[in-house]
Amino acid sequence: MKPHQSIRIITLGCAKNMVDSEVLMGQLKVNNIKVLRENDKGHAHTVVINTCGFINDAREESIDTILGYIEEKKKGRIKNVFVMGCLSERFREPLLKEIPEVDEYFGVHDIAKIVERMGAEFRQNLVGDRMLTTPNHYAYLKIAEGCNRSCSFCAIPGIRGQHISKSMEDIVLEATKLAKQGVKEILLISQDLTYYGLDLYKKQMLPELVEKLSDLKLFDWIRLHYLYPTTLPSGLIDTIASRPDVCNYIDIPLQHINNRILKSMKRGVTAGETRKLISQFRQRLPEMAIRTAFIVGYPGETEDEFNELKQFIKETRFDRVGVFTYSHEEDTAAFRLKDDIPEKAKLARASELMEIQEEISRDLNALKVGKTFKVLIDRQEGEYFVGRTEFDSPEIDNEVLINVSANLKIGDFCTVKITGADAFDLYGCLTDNHSLPL
Ligand code: SF4
Repeated sequence: MKPHQSIRIITLGCAKNMVDSEVLMGQLKVNNIKVLRENDKGHAHTVVINTCGFINDAREESIDTILGYIEEKKKGRIKNVFVMGCLSERFREPLLKEIPEVDEYFGVHDIAKIVERMGAEFRQNLVGDRMLTTPNHYAYLKIAEGCNRSCSFCAIPGIRGQHISKSMEDIVLEATKLAKQGVKEILLISQDLTYYGLDLYKKQMLPELVEKLSDLKLFDWIRLHYLYPTTLPSGLIDTIASRPDVCNYIDIPLQHINNRILKSMKRGVTAGETRKLISQFRQRLPEMAIRTAFIVGYPGETEDEFNELKQFIKETRFDRVGVFTYSHEEDTAAFRLKDDIPEKAKLARASELMEIQEEISRDLNALKVGKTFKVLIDRQEGEYFVGRTEFDSPEIDNEVLINVSANLKIGDFCTVKITGADAFDLYGCLTDNHSLPL
């Protein structure tokens, strides 16, 4: 079959989906197919949409995007529309009926099939040759696929399947290739980082993997995302504490703090264990930035249970918090429960928590004024260079704004003295010897 000459890849959803798109783009590129990212200039005959399908809002966005490109196809501006990812993995049959204009639907494990459908040859040995969609100085490194947990509200195990760890060799090879592309910060991701190795090596191997990546001496920052709050691999805190290139930062979604709800969510952790875990981190790594996420409006969540969560957030003063409203998902254990919290109440609870967190973030940021931090420049925006400290992950956390008069380039590290702060941003200026490492 004659290869599709030019293909634009549209990526929706999480960073794990983004890596899948980048792997697909890498495969198409080595087959000399012109590959465009979503915002790249130029025309593409074919569009592949990598969808997200795990909660309602994400599904709507995916369907709107598909319908948008079907309109382009009807107008003859593009020839083909293909759909891949979580939405088509989960809802292929109804999609085939609802939107038959899509040339073909693929799942989450179909990259080889897609490459062949594009008339190209899938290269099995192409480990880590990704076409990055992030700025070249940072990249996500997916260390496993799927999840073996059974959180009652979550459809992901049903979409992405059981947990499959990548081999350490493949991860190190991929990381080395990313460094060759100029990547200075790698963000380790999977559904549950703490599970890494249990399938392949029959024991948790996250600390060993992080140390192996750190021993490469290729990255300034190694960041850990999506830790699960039970069974933290022993030695992980020591690894973070002893390795300056491992960011003093963790992302550990907790979802709730009330014992009845944690039990109903099948999280396998209690409020007491959660508090103990956080204080363990705080005692050992007082400077560490802790990001977490909570769900409000879970079936049956009473005012008291919500207030308990509110109090927990006020007391614990997390550095970064994401709040989601409960989404009643088919094929999940919670779907048997009555989705009895009205949408309006869910949204009100979510914004109440975000208001509390905004004040906490403002206070914590104010404590940074006068201090000096190593900052990675992500972009230039108007009169500012915009960067991050090791306590901030791209796209989701705080940023540092430096006046554009500073002689900087995107991807540079520099040393910045913080001169001002608000709830989610810091303002700073370069120190005299800003190019010298801190
Ligand atoms: S850990 Fe829980 S919430 Fe996260 S992907 Fe697995 S089942 Fe879903």
